[in-house]
Amino acid sequence: MSKQNKRSEALIYHEKPTPGKIQVVPTKKYASQRDLSLAYSPGVAEPCLEIEKDKNNAYKYTAKGNLVAVISNGTAVLGLGNIGPEASKPVMEGKGLLFKIFADIDVFDIEVNTENVDEFIETVKNIAPTFGGINLEDIKAPEAFEIERRLKEELDIPVMHDDQHGTAIISAAALINALEIAEKDISKVKIVISGAGAAAISCSRLYQACGAKRENMVMLDSKGVIRNDRDNLTSQKAEFATHRKIDTLTEAMVDADVFIGLSMADIVSPDMLLVMAEKPIVFAMANPNPEINYQLAIDTRDDIIMATGRSDHPNQVNNVLGFPFIFRGALDVRANAINEEMKMAAVKALAKLAKEPVPEQVNVAYGKTRLTFGKDYIIPKPFDPRLIAEVPPAVAKAAMDSGVAKQPILDWDKYKETLRE
Ligand code: NAP
Ligand code: MG
Repeated sequence: MSKQNKRSEALIYHEKPTPGKIQVVPTKKYASQRDLSLAYSPGVAEPCLEIEKDKNNAYKYTAKGNLVAVISNGTAVLGLGNIGPEASKPVMEGKGLLFKIFADIDVFDIEVNTENVDEFIETVKNIAPTFGGINLEDIKAPEAFEIERRLKEELDIPVMHDDQHGTAIISAAALINALEIAEKDISKVKIVISGAGAAAISCSRLYQACGAKRENMVMLDSKGVIRNDRDNLTSQKAEFATHRKIDTLTEAMVDADVFIGLSMADIVSPDMLLVMAEKPIVFAMANPNPEINYQLAIDTRDDIIMATGRSDHPNQVNNVLGFPFIFRGALDVRANAINEEMKMAAVKALAKLAKEPVPEQVNVAYGKTRLTFGKDYIIPKPFDPRLIAEVPPAVAKAAMDSGVAKQPILDWDKYKETLRE
């Protein structure tokens, strides 16, 4: 399909038959006068009074417990940059659609007209009573770090900035599996990270939690290698500054085992791949175009293990493998946070799932005769029906074990059954 046709197809999809991608649907009967008197005045006063007595009753009598706010100020939308709150709305509605179809979670998308950190935080805090969880989205770094940190401190519902942690969780699962296939030890591998934004920083932190060593990492931003003798580093960049006296990506790639790209299209050349260690792991995740073209990379090295952010190649690192299931697990135990333990549980559940035999319906959905664990299949596919059965229970259990679950699950078999329905 030509570029022009794809463009008009996307616009028509969004415009017809109804503008946008989500709507509100009543969950109670509304046919009779009696129904309406229960739904609204006077019946509605009863749950109001119960909730006034105990705020937790909001989970019992309202949609709060299954409602997530997808909130953005439009400052870092996809790879499009700061395009403003209105222009971010299709993305936030899209996220709502994905939450619903993959995990049956309802979403209100909220687009906030401010770039001021304090104002944004205040807005989210003020509307938080409506929701069971907050998904922060497409907010630019470094502001996103402070916004998430302060909201996590100040709110008692789960808050997650998906651009940071979604990518980190999925790519960490993929990295663990790629290293297993390459027979390399995470504590020993040399890792080059191109990019020092929201995604790159939180990926690097999570890889460390998985066993990677900071001294084996080299991070680059738009100015080159982040060295510890560079001036005016943000605290996040300083955290990953190297003492090595190198400046360029070409120098950093010599003998590297892993390349993590969360920066810009086409900044990696075949020559750079050729100087990497044997069985190099290359996750070129810039969207829509990776740091190096997929075909070019696999033509350059036949021992490469390659992942991108794109659905048209094997090994797509796609956040949709994470956020619906992580929030599902968090909401189902009424967790008051999404903590490191819960993220790690999601990493492990995703990594493990990729090693299990793939159901026939997944093979059919992806037009593959047999997907099997190996260099072209290191993470599960988004349409794998086992994700909803495996990831939320792992996250929920980690929430319980780490003491953030306000409503523990008692019957796991029954819980898993309800997830599959
Ligand atoms: P961001 O916060 O804006 O960060 C972008 C980073 O890239 C900045 O640190 C920037 O450097 C750096 N950069 C720009 N040009 C560079 C170059 N030539 N070499 C090295 N670094 C360079 O954006 P983000 O949210 O982290 O996302 C970054 C990229 O990853 C985007 O392309 C996004 O689409 C992609 N991404 C993919 C996934 C996925 O699942 N596949 C998930 C999240 C993000 P400065 O700090 O100097 O400006
Ligand atoms: Mg995003």
